[in-house]
Amino acid sequence: MSVRSLTCIECPIGCSIEVTVENGEPVSVTGNACPRGKLYAENEVICPRRVLTSTVRAENGELIPVKTDKPIKKDETFDLMKKINRVVCKLPVKIGDIIVENITEDINLIATGNAEGV
Ligand code: SF4
Repeated sequence: MSVRSLTCIECPIGCSIEVTVENGEPVSVTGNACPRGKLYAENEVICPRRVLTSTVRAENGELIPVKTDKPIKKDETFDLMKKINRVVCKLPVKIGDIIVENITEDINLIATGNAEGV
C-alpha cells in the first residue's frame, strides 16, 4: 500500500489530495473538496489524462491552434501528435469548429482560434 500526493487541476482552487493505492488501484481519496477531485485523483492513478493542445496546418500554410475537446490518455499523446501533424484543414475556421471528428475514441480535435484564409 502507498500514498500518492496530488494537486487537483480540475479547478483553480487546486486542492491537495492524497490517494491511497493498493495493487495499483485507488482505495481511498482524501483532501478533495468535491467529487470532481475524487474522480481526477482516481483517474490519475489508474490512467492519467490531459487535454492535448497543438496546431494544425491550414491549406494556405497558416498554423491553426487546436485542442482535444476531452482529455486523452497521456500514453496516447505521441500517436495522436503524429495524426495531428498530418492534418491539413480547410479555411475559414472559427473557434470551436471540429477539425477532426473522433480523432481518437469519441474525442474531437477542435479549433481554438479563428482563421479566414485569403
Ligand atoms: S477537488 Fe474540487 S474544489 Fe478542489 S481543486 Fe478539485 S475540482 Fe476544485
